[in-house]
Amino acid sequence: MTGTVYKSTGSWYQVKAEDGKFYKCRIKGKFRIKGIKSTNPVAVGDRVVIKLEDNTEGEQNGVITGIKDRENYIIRKSVNLSKQTHIIASNIDQAFLLVTLNNPPTFTTFIDRFLVTAEAYAIKAILLFNKVDTYSPEELDEVKYMAAMYRQIGYECIGISAKSGKNIEKVKDLMKDKTSMISGHSGTGKSTLVNAIEPKLDLKTTQISEQHKQGQHTTTFAEMFDLDFGARIIDTPGIKGFGVVDIEKEELGNYFPEFFARKQDCKFYNCLHLEEPKCAVKEALEQGEIPWSRYKSYLQILKGEDDQHYRFENYE
Ligand code: GDP
Ligand code: ZN
Repeated sequence: MTGTVYKSTGSWYQVKAEDGKFYKCRIKGKFRIKGIKSTNPVAVGDRVVIKLEDNTEGEQNGVITGIKDRENYIIRKSVNLSKQTHIIASNIDQAFLLVTLNNPPTFTTFIDRFLVTAEAYAIKAILLFNKVDTYSPEELDEVKYMAAMYRQIGYECIGISAKSGKNIEKVKDLMKDKTSMISGHSGTGKSTLVNAIEPKLDLKTTQISEQHKQGQHTTTFAEMFDLDFGARIIDTPGIKGFGVVDIEKEELGNYFPEFFARKQDCKFYNCLHLEEPKCAVKEALEQGEIPWSRYKSYLQILKGEDDQHYRFENYE
């Protein structure tokens, strides 16, 4: 039988099987997955093959005997420990980023890091400009300007209010039949959005934020939830988003779609779009076809500078 992993505690996996039921599963033996060295062999989102067995209490438990190829996966690195890779979740269809102008501010460098990571992980990214009910006309103009800029590059952008419900139906439409992640700085409205789309998950989000407040060290695991309208969301408590992980300098420009589109016109095939002559990206920048904020983000990531607004988001 096949199924999908909804939850992992490290030793047990909650698997939703094709019969629609949840089974508590464990792993027998060792899995080796090509090309990935990770601390966990099976992650939330994995599509697995399970074999059911009757346990002593007469219930059916499962044994995971195989994992199907992952379409994509996101990882976390433990900085203070052994720098080992941990797979947070896999087979994600799309990642939403909640953006607020102020309260808290979301800077374009942070947005761009998110977008670069989504490109590198091959996950579709959508920007949700939240709290539109609180903005002055000038601030709304700024939001519109930002949204237009990102739309031009090819990213879907929606102005929403998780509080008033504005455009929440649009977000639900995008989520339908898909597996989504919701990212964003703390305070941008992730819990409020989840509550707006599925009030029954209310309890859980409150519990998580309470745990944070008390500063308890709780080991956090990603978990997938079925929403009533036919969508799945992956909750990654303790990880409020994802940032750039291990991208080679030469590769980075490929994850800026508007740079990538012009790359073949650069004189050098391995152009880093810095001081090289006849660089099509720099020319487009001078012409105003590429926004300076995007180039600034590119330079920041290329030089390995930490964005203080990002550095705590990706690491445990
Ligand atoms: P999280 O940390 O990303 O989960 O953010 P929360 O969902 O806890 O929201 C942080 C604060 O922003 C709360 O006080 C929410 O009520 C408020 N908030 C969230 N979305 C909106 C919105 O669309 N409009 C307004 N006015 N406030 C919002
Ligand atoms: Zn170039």
